[in-house]
Amino acid sequence: MKNYDRIWATVDLDAIKHNMAAMKVNLREETKIIAVVKTDGYGHGAVPIAHEIEDLPYLYGFAVATVEEALILRGSGIRKPVLILGYTFPYCYEKMAREEIRPAVFREDMLEEMGKAAVSCGRPVKIHIKVDTGMSRIGIRPDESGLAFVRKCMETPGIEIEGIFTHFARADETDKTPARQQLEQFLDFTGRIRRELGIHIPVQHCSNSAGIVGLGEANLDVVRAGITLYGLWPSEQVAKDIVPLKPVLSLRSRIVYIKELEAGRAVSYGGTFVTQAPTRVATIPAGYGDGYPRGLSNKGSVLIAGKRAPILGRICMDQFMVDVTGIPEAKEGDVVTLIGPDGDDAITMEELGELSGRFNYELACCLNKRVPRVYVKDGETVYSKDSFRDFR
Ligand SMILES: *Cc1c(COP(=O)(O)O)cnc(C)c1O
Repeated sequence: MKNYDRIWATVDLDAIKHNMAAMKVNLREETKIIAVVKTDGYGHGAVPIAHEIEDLPYLYGFAVATVEEALILRGSGIRKPVLILGYTFPYCYEKMAREEIRPAVFREDMLEEMGKAAVSCGRPVKIHIKVDTGMSRIGIRPDESGLAFVRKCMETPGIEIEGIFTHFARADETDKTPARQQLEQFLDFTGRIRRELGIHIPVQHCSNSAGIVGLGEANLDVVRAGITLYGLWPSEQVAKDIVPLKPVLSLRSRIVYIKELEAGRAVSYGGTFVTQAPTRVATIPAGYGDGYPRGLSNKGSVLIAGKRAPILGRICMDQFMVDVTGIPEAKEGDVVTLIGPDGDDAITMEELGELSGRFNYELACCLNKRVPRVYVKDGETVYSKDSFRDFR
């Protein structure tokens, strides 16, 4: 196993399984889960996570944002359904059909082109119709025009309607009224499809993580679990006691330099922090070039030997400084926790998201390819990946 001393993210595959089971307990027996693994599994690594959970009987399949993400899963051997949540461009329709990747469909020209691709490669395209009930992003309207669209889906050769779904804009708020209104519109529409077009679409879905945690009636045939899969919360306002989650990712580095500064010394670019007293300063070899937010300058802290060390001055691209005056045992080479537990304390993605003016989803996605990922199961490293080569 490679040595990742500078910075590394540990991904706890047991925590992924724990979070899946915790969500399932809050769902009806018949409701299955789609694991949302877009943006490389919210920065955690889509492939190892998908393989870890693919065999769970209540896992329906996976959702991604792009066809390339879907093909990465297929290329790694994932066989369960893979759904693309956004628009899919025509250049890949044949490949999509051959690999049985399910597109979200909401434009008539998509239907025509997908139908052709299906016929030419001899496999139907299984589509999920996207309905816009309040997000105003993508999707057909749940009205006459929407019904006409569904009829067109039924009539297009090569197209098989497998699913229909909508997406909540505000399910993560304390007041569930807007989400309930969206749900109601969706159920009315699928009711009309059944009555007026005479078909029952087998896979109906609404809920995202916030719905799973806080809106039981929205959990239909399947639910789409994103942020909660990774043990993170959709927002501050969701109930945190119903589905007990475990954060999956931790981020660590090592102290590379310690020095004693006298009072009056400025630290880092712009001299935004000036020591008021003799201060012991440690340098950490990580920065915004790894996706660690510059917004944490003079605000965040790290854990060293289970204690908080405040960030001094600006975060640089590749390094930043922390105050270890209160941690006399800290020495060069010691492990530093940027995200995750150390002793009795822990730094959460939520805390850093809040402090940096980003949010937890964004923070996870922004941990970039300079950060190697190490996968742990039963306390053992089972797999690791990095992007340290970029040539043939
Ligand atoms: C990203 C996404 C999800 C997952 O959202 P979470 O809040 O992370 O659970 C579900 N559905 C759609 C359409 C999405 O784009």
